[in-house]
Amino acid sequence: MSDDLDELYQTVLLEHSKRPRNFGEFPEATIHVDADNPSCGDEIHLHADFDPEGKVVKLQFTGQGCAISQASASLMTLKLQGRSGAEALQMLGDFRQLVTQEPGNEPETLGDLVAFGGVRKFPQRVKCAMLPWRAFEQAHDEWQRNSSS
Ligand code: ZN
Repeated sequence: MSDDLDELYQTVLLEHSKRPRNFGEFPEATIHVDADNPSCGDEIHLHADFDPEGKVVKLQFTGQGCAISQASASLMTLKLQGRSGAEALQMLGDFRQLVTQEPGNEPETLGDLVAFGGVRKFPQRVKCAMLPWRAFEQAHDEWQRNSSS
C-alpha cells in the first residue's frame, strides 16, 4: 500500500476490512450475484432483497479478496440498504465518478465513501473498489428483469 493514501482512507479501509458489516450468507435472498476481479483475485457474492418498488431492503455479502474490495463491499451495504432503486443507482454513479475522476465536488451523500477517492491514482485498485458496486448493478438489473416479466 502506497503512502500517498490519506489518513481517512487508511482508517476507514482498515476498520471495514477487519470488521466487515453485513458479511455473511443470506440464503433466502431473492437475488444472488457472483462477481470477481481476476487481476487481484477478489470475489464477491452479493445477496440482495428488493421490495416491489425496487427499494433495497437487505444486502449481505460473502467472498474474499483484498482489503479494498472487502471494505468497499462493507460500506456499500451500509450505504445502500433502505434506499430506493433510483437513489442506489445514483450513489453507484457518484461512487464510480469518485474513484475514476479528479477530486472535487464529491456529493455529500457519499459520506465515508469519499475515503475511496484515494484509489483513483491506482487503476488496478479502482477495479477492487468497484467490484461490489458492479455486483450491485447486476443485482439491480436482475431485479428489474424479474419485476417486469
Ligand atoms: Zn483487490
